[in-house]
Amino acid sequence: MRLPLIAGNWKMNTTISEATELVKAMRAGLDRIGNVDKVICPPFVSLAAVKELIEGSSIKLGAQNIYFEEKGAYTGEVSSLMLADLCEFVIIGHSERRQYFNETGEIVNKKIVAALKVGLKPILCIGERLEENEAGRTEEVVTEQLRSSLTGIDYPGSLLIAYEPVWAIGTGKAATGKQANGTIGFIRHNIAELYGKEIARTVRILYGGSVTAENTAEFMNQPEIDGALVGGASLKATQFLSIVEQTSEIKGRLSRGGGEGY
Ligand code: PEP
Repeated sequence: MRLPLIAGNWKMNTTISEATELVKAMRAGLDRIGNVDKVICPPFVSLAAVKELIEGSSIKLGAQNIYFEEKGAYTGEVSSLMLADLCEFVIIGHSERRQYFNETGEIVNKKIVAALKVGLKPILCIGERLEENEAGRTEEVVTEQLRSSLTGIDYPGSLLIAYEPVWAIGTGKAATGKQANGTIGFIRHNIAELYGKEIARTVRILYGGSVTAENTAEFMNQPEIDGALVGGASLKATQFLSIVEQTSEIKGRLSRGGGEGY
């Protein structure tokens, strides 16, 4: 049984005071919802303030990135070691980082290793670009990204994966539940090849890309999809709460009915 997880990626949005307001607006509502892990990932500068505000609640904290060295002359970077004191999760290899900051599979791999070493739970993002999707190369691309990210890692530990087709991120054009479920099933198959069936059955794999309160049910009703990485809609308290609430309700129902893959 895999506990569903909804993570909100606030990206480079919110000042510290805006982040504080947003947490206050969702804290009580989120805390009440069970049967789902609730993770918020504000910008680095707000992590400490948000951590204080969610202390004692069931809300968990994540960062959006790390550098792979623990310390040293890397001006402007933030290490896994620094974040281990603050957060439980860290998003790694988001397509925006691959696109704008030239993160390669090798860099993503080093970051995953660094996160696992200090006990941070990595949320590894993989997904194909539009032209790759149209050329029918989705499986090839996600396989390559997955395998390069996990090179040399004997045991993925607390790793989570987010399948995020790049063409669906921030575009309002989400994949269909069926498409996402198919690719996530394929990713799980890859994990089984790398680490065995037992681990593949327990690794949580999320969908990300224009998830909203309106389309959440479509994704959460799919057996392979264990939750969502939510960008834009995580900046609106009512949207995020509704996404988490629906996930809890739908996955709870599927698990009681013994839904396949859950
Ligand atoms: C994301 O940032 O990972 C994301 C999926 O964004 P959005 O939900 O806005 O498409």
